[in-house]
This record gives sequence, C-alpha cells and structure tokens, in this order.
Amino acid sequence: MDKISIVVPCYHEEKSLPFFYKEISNVYNKMSNVEFEIIYVNDGSTDGTLGVIKDYASIDKRIKYISLSRNFGKESALYAGLENSTGDYVAVMDADLQDPPELLEQMYNVLIEKDYDCVATRRVDRKGEPPIRSFFARCFYRIINKISNTDIVDGARDFRLMKRSMVDAILQMKEYNRFSKGIFGWVGFNTKWLDYENVERVAGETKWSFWNLFKYSIEGIVAFSTMPLLISSFVGLLFFIISLTMICFIILRTIILGDPVAGWPSLVCIIFFVGGIQLFCTGILGQYLAKTYIETKNRPIYIIKESNIDLNK
Ligand code: UDP
Ligand code: MG
Repeated sequence: MDKISIVVPCYHEEKSLPFFYKEISNVYNKMSNVEFEIIYVNDGSTDGTLGVIKDYASIDKRIKYISLSRNFGKESALYAGLENSTGDYVAVMDADLQDPPELLEQMYNVLIEKDYDCVATRRVDRKGEPPIRSFFARCFYRIINKISNTDIVDGARDFRLMKRSMVDAILQMKEYNRFSKGIFGWVGFNTKWLDYENVERVAGETKWSFWNLFKYSIEGIVAFSTMPLLISSFVGLLFFIISLTMICFIILRTIILGDPVAGWPSLVCIIFFVGGIQLFCTGILGQYLAKTYIETKNRPIYIIKESNIDLNK
C-alpha cells in the first residue's frame, strides 16, 4: 500500500485547523487504498495552534507534529516537515484550505497512472487579492523569469504532491535562504500543473504584508539569479564609455573655443547621479554578500522543540 505524507506548516492557525482536519478526514475516507501521515509543523505559533494539533494527534494515529523552537518562516517549516516525512509520496499543503485537499486524489491518480514525478497547482486568477499586489506579483514573475534560468511559474502555489525521488532532491538543497518556488523548479523532474481558481483562506489572516512580500521577492531574485550583478557591471561600463566621450568632447571644445568656465549646476547633477548609481550597485553587491555571509555560517534551517516523532532514528 502506498503511503502519502502531508506536510502542513502552521503559524497561528488555531482557527483554520478544525476546518482543515475535517476536510482532510474526508480525503482519508475517499482514498481508502492509501496510507496517510499528516505532519503538522508548528512554526513557533504563540496562539493555541500547538494545543489544537496535540488534541488531534491524541485521537488520530496518522497525525505527527513537529513544533519548532521559534518562528522560522514557512520555508524552514516545510523543510522540517519534508525531512521528517516517510511516505512514498509527499504533499505540501497550507492549513488555511487555500490549497483544496480534495485535489489530492486527482493528483495521486496522475502520479500513479502517468509518467510524472510531481503534480503541482497554480491558480488561474488572483481573486480576492488587492489589485496593486497582483500587479507587483505579475511584474516580479516577469522579471525573475527573464533573469533566472530556473523556471518560476506565475501563480504557482506551494501545494503539490511529489514522488520520493523529488523530495530527496529537495532535501539535498540545504541552503539557509530558502525560496521554495525556485527550489521546486531548480530540482527539475516532470511536473504536471493543475489549474484551479483562487480560494480565500477559511479563517485567520494571511501573514504576508506587502513589505514582507517585497523582501521575499528580493530574496528570490538574489537566490536564483546573479543577473543584477551583471547589470551593475554593465552600468559601470556604460558610464565609463560615456565619461570618455565627454572628456574627448570637452578637450576638443576647449581647444577650439577657448575655456569658458560654466556648467556648475550640470556638474553637481552629474556628481549626484553617478554617486547614486554607485551606491545602488554597491547595494546590489551587498545583497549578495549578505546572503553569502549568512550561508557560510551554516546555521541549522530549523530547531525542533518538541515532537511526537522519534527523532533519533
Ligand atoms: N506559515 C508558516 N510560517 C510563517 C508564515 C506562514 O508556517 O511564518 C504557514 C501558514 O500557517 C499557512 C501557510 O504557511 O499554512 C501559508 O501562509 P499564509 O496563508 O499566511 O500565506 P498566503 O496563503 O497568504 O500566501
Ligand atoms: Mg494562505
């Protein structure tokens, strides 16, 4: 009998978990030919999330939980769940029912019938999202796909069902700055995309503010492309060429027309402009350096505080 592990990162989800549990129980009942394991990863919630999870775990043998020592972020929580999963197939799913659990059956059927390693989902619309956010999200995907070799799909959710081989590949990527959408694309494998309409979260609130999303997008770009460095080198080269031309022009003009002392305002503008470009390029360099600095520390991606899984195996 095949086993499916479902990894569910939870951060302040006490309100959504009862709905989630109900939905997922329906899935167990429908897919009686498969064994299930649900791994809830409590990502340092300070509300009653862990209590709710423990209550379910005491009545349902299929439920495992991992509670992290603080909030490490969804990406780290996912890694913790994947690393402790034992199924032949592993699903990744949000606790807020934005990833409809009933799709699991269809996903599983695709994996056993067809030659795919992963079935992933993407939403075809961004209903219920502020228009400005959708606009910036679209821009982000357009930019990152131009400057990165990794395919990062617009509208892709993290919700997916993967074969063990793909999960193992993901686990080999031990980087600290984890941009999942990029990591899933980077490891390759055959992925089938299922489209579905955006669903709004069942309870609680999203943890993503606009500012967080902005920082996350910069992280994604720095993690999966070095194009900004190349661009800043080209900007440098371009300015060098422009300044050479200007020097020649000024020398010639002085020889031909004499030496009129003028152009103070334009000089100040140029100094500011070039100074700005320099700072901007140094900033780009700094971003990469900062990420390298964090990576070289080789810190653990997550720390477990408690769990009902035997962690010493
Ligand atoms: N999540 C997490 N740690 C965090 C933030 C979020 O584990 O620091 C979980 C959260 O509980 C949910 C999933 O990640 O199950 C997606 O979060 P959310 O619904 O806030 O994101 P959105 O769906 O709006 O992208
Ligand atoms: Mg959500």
